[in-house]
Amino acid sequence: MASDNSKPANPVPEQPSAAPAEPKVRAEKLQAVRGMNDILPADEPLWEALEDSVAGIMRAYGYQRIRTPIVEPTKLFVRGIGAVTDIVEKEMYSFTDSLNGEQLTLRPENTAGVVRAAIEHNLTYDAPRRLWYTGPMFRHERPQKGRYRQFHQVGAEALGFAGPDVDAELIMLCQRLWDALDLGPVRLEINCLGDAQERAAHRSALIAYFEAHQDQLDEDAKRRLHSNPLRILDTKNPAMQALVNAAPTLSQFLGQASSAHFSGVQELLKAQNMPFRINPRLVRGLDYYNLTVFEWIAPVGGSELTICGGGRYDPLTEMLGGKPTPGCGFALGVERVLEMMRQAESVVAAPLCDVYVVHQAAGSSVLALQVGERLRDAGLDVIVHAGQGGFKSQFKRADASGAAVAVILGEEEVARNIVSLKWLRETASIEAGEQEQVGLDEMVDVIVDQLVDEGDDLDGGSMIEALTLDTDPDEADPQAVPPARKSLH
Ligand code: ATP
Ligand code: MG
Repeated sequence: MASDNSKPANPVPEQPSAAPAEPKVRAEKLQAVRGMNDILPADEPLWEALEDSVAGIMRAYGYQRIRTPIVEPTKLFVRGIGAVTDIVEKEMYSFTDSLNGEQLTLRPENTAGVVRAAIEHNLTYDAPRRLWYTGPMFRHERPQKGRYRQFHQVGAEALGFAGPDVDAELIMLCQRLWDALDLGPVRLEINCLGDAQERAAHRSALIAYFEAHQDQLDEDAKRRLHSNPLRILDTKNPAMQALVNAAPTLSQFLGQASSAHFSGVQELLKAQNMPFRINPRLVRGLDYYNLTVFEWIAPVGGSELTICGGGRYDPLTEMLGGKPTPGCGFALGVERVLEMMRQAESVVAAPLCDVYVVHQAAGSSVLALQVGERLRDAGLDVIVHAGQGGFKSQFKRADASGAAVAVILGEEEVARNIVSLKWLRETASIEAGEQEQVGLDEMVDVIVDQLVDEGDDLDGGSMIEALTLDTDPDEADPQAVPPARKSLH
């Protein structure tokens, strides 16, 4: 047999014990993209409180939810937002689809997407539409508190209504939301942007004014002087405030129809006792607005931030290739509203579950799963202990879960077809810490009786409502605005 020199003649079989210890290389830890946040379970009560209130209030005003894609053709935003805006100039995540060369963009806002969808599906063919949406938006901004690269908006769009009634309705809807969320003080500012002709007249006057004061303009302003002088009014540069404050205002150029629309909005708001301030400098960052614009401003973490902005965008449908259809809407920044809710401490985390099932006996896993299902059939939220663990560590988990009661399955319980109940929280007739044994068949009734009694004593308590809703949804008042879910503690 020819020998192969590249291999040892008599290879020694490798002994596991003799093998050199392989260095353990940990895979690189990956992190989320800067400015794009994970939303962890600890924040979920806040998100749910906001989402529930929004869904209930939109329903109360007759707005229907629409879900549009997160990715749209880049053209939609260039046309729909305006090429000379902060968003389109520098904030869009745009890319070429390498499979077919299409120019695409992660949506930086959703009015353009909703209007595109309304045109595409003829949504306003036979009647006007009230629509709302929520979801992530993407803007390549410098991340800081209250400003992220992936953030969330809730928005409403009323399509096919000329206003001013629907303008006021949208503002009132926002106010109802701030009240439902217990946000504290939120200030309303409004303005009227007139129509295209009026803005053109104002624009010429502005250009003339800023040209006469060229030396006081910063780089951004100089660049915008002829492309978008209106945006100069929106400057955040303190050195330009005096100049901007003395600039000609659009109100001096409004004609009869625009003035009447603006007065209409104001009268409706006054009739509803809705306080507002007219801010003649309010322009909004997007090009498509006309007539009414409004912003809600609130103290968020020590500074004043706009939490919601909106207004009328009558020209947009035509700009996107549809038939002329008036539109009015708003978008609110979810993260900024959540920050206010955090400050107001208006939402307390609800317990993870109503019942925690603790078990340790031969064959108790099977029974524990069955007990869990029976309790859930009755509308209760149940965690069944999974995995190993003695009673002590299981009870620790039960306490941490916030459950009102622990159902215990030990050797004795399994043998006698009973369960032990340990009440972890006080109810109307039971002290915390009390323990009792009940037959397996009575268990559900005993627990439901206690927890429903407890719910009766609470305003807005979740337990009894959860039971009613879960067992008979038809009895729920469809107009009811769900309260923020509060803890039973
Ligand atoms: P700003 O002047 O603060 O940049 P904007 O005019 O760009 O706001 P809009 O396009 O009107 O904002 O969006 C509506 C709302 O969405 C804002 O009032 C704000 O609450 C929120 N928002 C906008 N951009 C961000 C962001 N990058 N991160 C978090 N929230 C945002
Ligand atoms: Mg911005």
